Amino acid sequence: MKYISTRGLAPALSFTDALIAGLAEDGGLYLPDSYPKLSQAEIAGFAGRPYAAVAEAVIWPFVAGTLERPALRNMIAAAYAGFDHVAVAPLSQLGDNLFLLELFHGPTLAFKDLAMQLLGRLMQHVLSARGQRATIVAATSGDTGAAAIAAFKDLPEVDVFILYPNGRVSDVQRRQMTTIAAANVHTIAIEGTFDDAQTLVKGLFANRRFRQEFSLAGVNSINWARVVAQVVYYFTSAVALGAPHRPVSFAVPTGNFGDILAGWVAKKMGLPVERLVIATNSNDILVRTLRTGRYETGLVEATQSPSMDIQVSSNFERLLFEAYGGDAAAVRRLMGSLQQSCGFSLDAAPLAAIRDEFDAARVGEAETSEEIARVWRETQRLIDPHTAVGLGAARAALAARPEVPAIVLGTAHPAKFPAAIERATGQHPPLPPHLADLAGRPEHFDVLPNDQSAIETFIRARLQSPGASAKRAAS
Ligand SMILES: *Cc1c(COP(=O)(O)O)cnc(C)c1O
Repeated sequence: MKYISTRGLAPALSFTDALIAGLAEDGGLYLPDSYPKLSQAEIAGFAGRPYAAVAEAVIWPFVAGTLERPALRNMIAAAYAGFDHVAVAPLSQLGDNLFLLELFHGPTLAFKDLAMQLLGRLMQHVLSARGQRATIVAATSGDTGAAAIAAFKDLPEVDVFILYPNGRVSDVQRRQMTTIAAANVHTIAIEGTFDDAQTLVKGLFANRRFRQEFSLAGVNSINWARVVAQVVYYFTSAVALGAPHRPVSFAVPTGNFGDILAGWVAKKMGLPVERLVIATNSNDILVRTLRTGRYETGLVEATQSPSMDIQVSSNFERLLFEAYGGDAAAVRRLMGSLQQSCGFSLDAAPLAAIRDEFDAARVGEAETSEEIARVWRETQRLIDPHTAVGLGAARAALAARPEVPAIVLGTAHPAKFPAAIERATGQHPPLPPHLADLAGRPEHFDVLPNDQSAIETFIRARLQSPGASAKRAAS
């Protein structure tokens, strides 16, 4: 299987090369040139199997030819061994035919761990086999950075630079990033929004000389390997509720469109998914796009669900490529317009194709708090504000087909966002034992302006300090 760029001007790569590259050189995102199809019998056979076994079966066709199967099996086993639930991603019931997929049992309490724990191992495996180093640079709205640091700290072949929007992540999120004292980890607070941080990272990758000099590698949700790892739990959860013999729908708290894109990939692979509901907070660019056909960035509003405070959903480009039938020139035109005039209009046929599979619903701040309070009242459970957005969207968009099980992706543990939970319920969600002393740990980070050359200077200085490896130069 080859991986091609959504913009059609970068060379096709193998899985492992796309893994290390992250973003394509033409600014596009890598996609497989075809989607493997699992038979109904294979999908039915996932019932009752361990998460790691399903992960191996789902991921294998995407990596075959570039990795050995036993190596993949071992990396998957190690990636999920540290989760604090045997099912890795258990399902629980919230109401009539309404289910919560708990994706917060990993080390940093958000669904990002499911992909990042595997991504770290894949990168380490590939880099050490090649005798190379890489510099990971990632923008985060809070959870990606923590998950990346947990996955990459102390790995011998990588340095990690994480950019987060200063003052726009929760205390727990910030501390999860800043209290890791590993020599290869550098946490940077950017004076700007998440979109500013993401634009800076894209700018670093677009600077070819800088990118090559420091062997930049991306781990943001634009990295295809992350999408693939996320496809797995769509299968495990749907099969637990009767797929492939009956369809299910998913509601997905959405920011950069990586998680829900994985649901779309699962459907392409043969999983019977009826509806995919894009759930957004008041940063509702995708809701507006589905309604009007016009994708137009606005100002980012800070909400209780900060990991979705995004106005540019990078992974949407992959869906556009598919909706335009693989027409890379069309994608270039749309992305050019986005860069020049902060928006573009979808043509009628691709818009119809997207509406055919996706719904979208916006859940505002008051509704989010009401969902948290309602779930507490009805089930004595605390849910995090991102999950509450997903739940509100599920209730709005899926009510018309109550006989189809609705699965809401529970993307974070409530203890990551205690202020929102306390406001809505008066309850304080405790951190799990491994993070109980987080507030007392010393923090390490630098504050930098929203300025690409300042970031480049900082990274250069850190990597050229005595002790930075000479191996990079050889790679
Ligand atoms: C990252 C994140 C999201 C958004 O996921 P995308 O893949 O960016 O759409 C939602 N909820 C939480 C808790 C997150 O960390």
